[in-house]
Amino acid sequence: MRWPPLAILIAPCLILGLASAESARAFGTVNAAHQSAEHEMITRRALGCDGAPPAAPCLEPATLDELAGVPGKAGAVGYPDLSTNFFKARAHCDNGDQPGGAALVACRDAMEANMRAAVADAAGLLDARGAIRPAQVTLGCVYAFNLKGRAKCNMLQDLGLVLHAAQDFYSHSNWVDATVDVHPAGLGNRLPAAFIGLRTFPKSPPPGLVTGCYSMWGSCGDRINHEGLNKDLGPIGPTAGSPVGPGQTARGNHGANFEHAVEAAAADTRDKLAVLGERLVATYGRTKGTRMLCAVTHDDPARAC
Ligand SMILES: [Zn+2]
Repeated sequence: MRWPPLAILIAPCLILGLASAESARAFGTVNAAHQSAEHEMITRRALGCDGAPPAAPCLEPATLDELAGVPGKAGAVGYPDLSTNFFKARAHCDNGDQPGGAALVACRDAMEANMRAAVADAAGLLDARGAIRPAQVTLGCVYAFNLKGRAKCNMLQDLGLVLHAAQDFYSHSNWVDATVDVHPAGLGNRLPAAFIGLRTFPKSPPPGLVTGCYSMWGSCGDRINHEGLNKDLGPIGPTAGSPVGPGQTARGNHGANFEHAVEAAAADTRDKLAVLGERLVATYGRTKGTRMLCAVTHDDPARAC
């Protein structure tokens, strides 16, 4: 749920860690009020090593906490709701209801820019001999004001921006929704959208794909509205295969829309980590690229990588 004027007041408070309330622009970020830390749970479900598919990269516990967040401290995936990114439609894949789909392309392109930033920031992980630089991989990351610090934290912040937008894509669009008895009609997909897969870059979104108009003031008039289309809220189990739902918005509660949005968002989240690994190898070569992905996914890279 959104309480728009309140959100403007609360968002800066959340940046300072002073408040928790219903301001998240998306799948929820804080575990309070009407939200259940949905971004955190989707990220844990997707990237935690418990239940991860064999051979898929996964995040060790302390690193996962830094990306997903813990009670009382939002992780990198919640950072877009708690910073100036809150106000940017492209950080949440909003406003994709206009002909031509420019807002959806802008959201995809913002994901790509942040993925490229993660690859660039990886350069700081290794010294001139290709070994892990221990001071660059310690945790205790602080995400604030778009500032950069240690290389691993920088990469987690970049990845958090990518994943937040990707997860919102499924919550805010009709990609997974039931195809009947709803307006706008759902597209009935279950798998992640190649449109935001960051392996190809179509100039236009798939036909019929829309996201809702988001207004800070609660109404977009006759446009397809975020309030009517979002599947932002509901309980999500923190490991792969654990229970999901029921959705707690009208659109999410229609059929299995919420459950399908969560599963597609989790699958896409897993794929984004795979894309990062592919890009690191393509950019830095197999030896360094593999070590860099190891540094991002392991809690003690100086020992493990
Ligand atoms: Zn969002």
